[in-house]
Amino acid sequence: MANEDPALIERAKRARRIVRNPGQYKVCLGCDSIVASKVSICPNCHSYRFEFDESFVVRQAQILSRRQQHSVVAEDLL
Ligand SMILES: [Zn+2]
Repeated sequence: MANEDPALIERAKRARRIVRNPGQYKVCLGCDSIVASKVSICPNCHSYRFEFDESFVVRQAQILSRRQQHSVVAEDLL
């Protein structure tokens, strides 16, 4: 427990916040990232197409939190 990566904890916390309030977020259809529902253009890829469905947002938050953990491992190997 003492050697848990604080970045991973922060990511898990963010994912949990999204899962608890999916109505405040949407998923970018250009890059699959989760953005606040109030933004009109994706800050990552400048797409303006989004999926607002709450169950879709929740599923994406769970996928991203898992995928980001894997990418940290991949970066460590480089
Ligand atoms: Zn995007």
